[in-house]
Amino acid sequence: MSTKAAHQKELFGHPVGLYVLFFTEMWERFSYYGMRGLLSLYMAAEITGANPGLGWTEAEALKLYGWYTMLVYIMSIPGGLIADKLIGQKKSVLVGAVILTLGHATLAIEQEWAFFVGLILIILGVGMLKPNISTMVGGLYGKNDIRRDKGFSIFYIGINTGSLLATTIVGLVVAKWGWHAGFGLAGIGMLLGLIVYLYGQKYLVHVGNKTPENEKKDQVDLGKLFGDLIKSTKHLVIVLILLGLSIYFGGFVMTGVDHWGYVALFVFLSFVVGMLMMIFKSLRNQIEKDRFLVVLLSFFLVIVFWGAFEQAGGLMNLYAENKTNRMLFGWQVPTIWFQSLNAGFIILFAVTVANYWAKRKLKNKEASSLFKMATGTIIMGLGFVFMVFAARDYNANGSSAMYWLVLAYFFHTIGELSSSPVSLSFVTKLAPVRYASLMMGLYFASTGLGNKVAGILGENASEYGEYTIFTGITIFTVLFGLGVIAILKPLKRLTHGAEDKEGTTNEEAEGFELADN
Ligand code: GLN
Repeated sequence: MSTKAAHQKELFGHPVGLYVLFFTEMWERFSYYGMRGLLSLYMAAEITGANPGLGWTEAEALKLYGWYTMLVYIMSIPGGLIADKLIGQKKSVLVGAVILTLGHATLAIEQEWAFFVGLILIILGVGMLKPNISTMVGGLYGKNDIRRDKGFSIFYIGINTGSLLATTIVGLVVAKWGWHAGFGLAGIGMLLGLIVYLYGQKYLVHVGNKTPENEKKDQVDLGKLFGDLIKSTKHLVIVLILLGLSIYFGGFVMTGVDHWGYVALFVFLSFVVGMLMMIFKSLRNQIEKDRFLVVLLSFFLVIVFWGAFEQAGGLMNLYAENKTNRMLFGWQVPTIWFQSLNAGFIILFAVTVANYWAKRKLKNKEASSLFKMATGTIIMGLGFVFMVFAARDYNANGSSAMYWLVLAYFFHTIGELSSSPVSLSFVTKLAPVRYASLMMGLYFASTGLGNKVAGILGENASEYGEYTIFTGITIFTVLFGLGVIAILKPLKRLTHGAEDKEGTTNEEAEGFELADN
């Protein structure tokens, strides 16, 4: 019989805790994507009829949808801060799971107030859960453990299994029993996630605990931050300029009913920049500072990646619906199935892509996270070439073939697998222990901004045409990725060899931080 404690046990070459987090996140994503899939349809559905919706216009529905998908991720910043400064990641995930279960249950109530309360609870719940569960995955692996990237790829399969189940099952439930049954089902999914998480606690005793006291003493005091900022003229001036620009752009340049929303967003981001500057100033040494900086720089790549990738739910979805010939042997393929291609391809190819990069690394070929992220962005960008062909096809023949979309989603997925799980892993490798969750929160906030950029690009398609938008996205993403590869050396220097010695697997997991020397 094994004498190992539960948290040291392994299954399929990875700590058992990985599978606890896998299934918790699978159910959380089931609820998230299940509900997200219904959201804009419910808002835009007529008020009358057998399955009444809210009766909003499509534009109103899409606008709220855009803000919602951005806010869930922006809330990862406070979610990460709460974990680092107060309760640790493990409890934050628990709190998030409870709030999410309540949020989805609220949406199952057929009242308008319940709709808004439910959305707010979900935004808060995802903010508490999503960044912190991801940081915990990193905490399962020791410093230099080459399994870390693969662990994140496995975790990513969990995410997409949840998404695939949701997009297939929830739609069927709504068709039979109506919107609120669909929302309720999402809630049941989250409840299962909560149960898995509670049951699996014994496999997670060593990860996601409160920031250790010796690390905590060097955390920036957020209460004092404002005072410190006022005392530091240079930083104060920067923040004031950003605040001025926020009010100017949000209040006067942006048009539409939501321009005050932009003001609030920009003001919030200005304070985040202020906070980051003060944190940067407080870091212990040049190594910490450089690593902090390179993680922040990598977030530009993250914004570009998701800004292009997230056309999937918007423009590409509409393209599948309205401009693609979906007839297959006399039967029309449902549009929503194209939304499942991404998750399906991830489940099929996640391990292959992770293995490819791990082998490259062991052969000492370039396989740094930044390289993978840049290559992933290029591969994803090249996927849009097929959408350019599709648009050409449509312009010439009045409809375009399905295989263009399939090829585009295939490239998008391979790009995503080279980039997204890798970014998660990268953040856990480089962030100082006391800001591990905050950095993860910032990562997700960047993906949220990417979502918003995607929405804005999509909106412009009606003016400029899909052909132009898809061509523009291809050129920009490929050039951006190549640009990052061109400056890879100096960027990698900033990591101070955090990834150079990866290869061993037998070290003790270190909680959540790995590169703090
Ligand atoms: N599809 C992934 C998930 O749901 C990525 C989301 C993101 O990073 N914004 O976790």
